[in-house]
Amino acid sequence: MPATPAWPPASLPRLFVPEPLAAATTLKLEGNQANYLANVMRLGPGDRVKLFDDRTGEWLAEIVDAGKRRVTLSITEHLRPREPVPDLWLLFAPLKRGRIDMLVEKATELGVARLLPVVTRRTVVDRVKDERLLAHMVEAAEQCERTALPELADAVMLQDLLAAWPAERTLLFADETGGRPLLEQAAPGPAGILIGPEGGFTNEERAAIRAHPAARAISLGPRILRAETAALAAVALWMAAAGDWGDAPRSSVAD
Ligand code: SAH
Repeated sequence: MPATPAWPPASLPRLFVPEPLAAATTLKLEGNQANYLANVMRLGPGDRVKLFDDRTGEWLAEIVDAGKRRVTLSITEHLRPREPVPDLWLLFAPLKRGRIDMLVEKATELGVARLLPVVTRRTVVDRVKDERLLAHMVEAAEQCERTALPELADAVMLQDLLAAWPAERTLLFADETGGRPLLEQAAPGPAGILIGPEGGFTNEERAAIRAHPAARAISLGPRILRAETAALAAVALWMAAAGDWGDAPRSSVAD
């Protein structure tokens, strides 16, 4: 008996749309998204697309008209609700352009709920939140099939972050000078992982972080990792121990 193909095919193009989606409505896409569907993917009337809006979940849509600059779709079926995202924040000192793009993309794929740039004494970059970074985040969410976008917060100073830190949220502080194994500290519940800049934290900063009641210093082994390596290693460990990596396999299987 041939296996029934998964429906909808996992290979359908998948796009984030900022406006809320609803059943039996039509949507007009213009600009890059229209160009991608009509000219890059060369889709036309009758072809299907998956859409998600970071609110109502994921929908199946059918192209009713595909022009060079505008594609009109009708929303046909609600596929799944917006998924719950593990309550993990990633706090990182802004990195140089290429590295921060990679960090934001990978943190999105790994399931982080909130990305929070933290300006420290040795931070080399301070302008963070820009269209380019948001585009990387959206593209990663489209590719990895998230229906909930991470939130990219505005940059904050380290001392302000510590002063306003929510008491119930564990602050896992990646400290290359030593700390407890992350797996010992990772428990389900609100958490944040704090990673320093290339030049590391100053001694005063390290003392201030360690003095915070919610902070737990964690080690990521005996080697000095690049900030983006440390961030992704810590997030992966947390996701496996306290996030959603132990869940049942995904319902829709790839073709
Ligand atoms: N101060 C270091 C560089 C910091 S690495 C030096 O110049 O030698 C950048 C950040 O990655 C650190 O601030 C820390 O948050 C994290 N990190 C790197 N290696 C780590 C390790 N082995 N354990 C815990 N955190 C680490």
